Amino acid sequence: MAIQSLASDRVGKQCLWYYKGMNEIEAVSTHQPSVTYHGAARMVTGTMHLVHAAGKRILLDCGSISGGSRDQDPFDLPFPFDPAEIDAVVLTHCHQDHCGRLASLVMQGFDGPIYTTQPSRDILEVLLFDTARIREQELMMRGRKHHGGPRPKVRFGTAEAHHTLDLVEVTPLGKPVVIDGDIELTLLEAGHILGSAMVHLAWQELGRTWRLTFTGDLGRSGFPFQHPHVALPPADLLLCESTYGGEAHDTAEMMAQNMARAIRRAASEGGKILIPAFSLGRTHIILHYLRKWMNQGVIPNLPIHVDSPLGRKLHKVFLRYPGEFSEKYRDDLEVDWLEGRDDATDVSFREGARIIVASGGMLEGGRILHHLRFHIDDPRATLLLVSYQAPGTLGEQILEKGDSVRFNGRRWNKWIDVVQVRGFSGHADHKDLLAAIEPLAGNVRQIRLVHGEPDRAEALAKALVARGFNDVRLPEMHETTQLS
Ligand SMILES: [Zn+2]
Ligand SMILES: [Zn+2]
Repeated sequence: MAIQSLASDRVGKQCLWYYKGMNEIEAVSTHQPSVTYHGAARMVTGTMHLVHAAGKRILLDCGSISGGSRDQDPFDLPFPFDPAEIDAVVLTHCHQDHCGRLASLVMQGFDGPIYTTQPSRDILEVLLFDTARIREQELMMRGRKHHGGPRPKVRFGTAEAHHTLDLVEVTPLGKPVVIDGDIELTLLEAGHILGSAMVHLAWQELGRTWRLTFTGDLGRSGFPFQHPHVALPPADLLLCESTYGGEAHDTAEMMAQNMARAIRRAASEGGKILIPAFSLGRTHIILHYLRKWMNQGVIPNLPIHVDSPLGRKLHKVFLRYPGEFSEKYRDDLEVDWLEGRDDATDVSFREGARIIVASGGMLEGGRILHHLRFHIDDPRATLLLVSYQAPGTLGEQILEKGDSVRFNGRRWNKWIDVVQVRGFSGHADHKDLLAAIEPLAGNVRQIRLVHGEPDRAEALAKALVARGFNDVRLPEMHETTQLS
């Protein structure tokens, strides 16, 4: 969808934005505060919501979309607004679908503060320098044979990573801070991953107080390591995630049974068990459960190798926050962290059944592809998918029926056993979401459901309407909601 016109008169606090394209969204005169959804609208990934409040432009998250074009340098993608005109960014947490385009925003002109928690700042530091290292390597490789995605066009190295990190304003949970003298921002425990926060904004405009609550990604009940999320603050507009609307997570017992079945089969045949896992959060949850179930005798006691250089760096950040985690958690991480590619290849070819947890949750990249190439045509091996697989990703394609799949520039026989084990999610499910929103009855005017596929978000919307919430909608991409 192309932007047809974007004009603004910031002095008079009047903006005329309108988008023309497939759905000709709407012409909006922002006499009133508003939010425009530039991602995670009727989809899970790419969270990027632009709030107009008290004459300011506040961007809530700046995430990347999974399953998009692999032919374009993501740093070269334009934003549907001028990054230089954004006054501040609030970052809820450091999953790529919330922070993946932050560095690109800075490279394209944003120079304001980035508000986030201390653990998220530390995680962001690791991610930014990891990206800088990879891009510097890829630039050096220019002219040689290139593997994987597009060649970087935009320079993003350690100097640029430092510049982005310098913009971060560490914001403690539960303590309001003032943005630009006009808007009060409070970050609140979201219980999703280390450092994750909900956002609450309050400001005066047009002779009254306005309040907006954004859940970011909301944690589930009874999950290891994380503190539960706090109560959602009352608001005129609630932006709520809806990833698992209408769904119930499997219990730990069900997860253990499904996992055990797959691992026992592979173990009896001497096959490798490959588990792709996001470096941030998911790797550590998987390791926790594998250790626990091995200790309980639920799954066979097999060697565990972890091929995730980024996961290892993040593990060191996690250990800086002992208050967030239990002692047991640290024991869980006493595993074989693989050092380099040669080490990984050696383990992948070693005899006998073993578990390899590798980076690349949706198989869009990461170390998992290295191992998958060796074992995708081995019927003794098992690929255990433990994460949501977004449409268009290799993970989603591999789940589909068929004897072959294309990646790394060629087609491969798909004889590996592919098993999806649900329940490892760090997101609230339907019951958790209702339990979080229901106490707001009478204290929220508008609810907009984001970060969910349409059927999931609709299931949640229906349940909310049945409970008396009457202004509940699923926004379209680039749609604007005026607060009322
Ligand atoms: Zn997340
Ligand atoms: Zn997310």
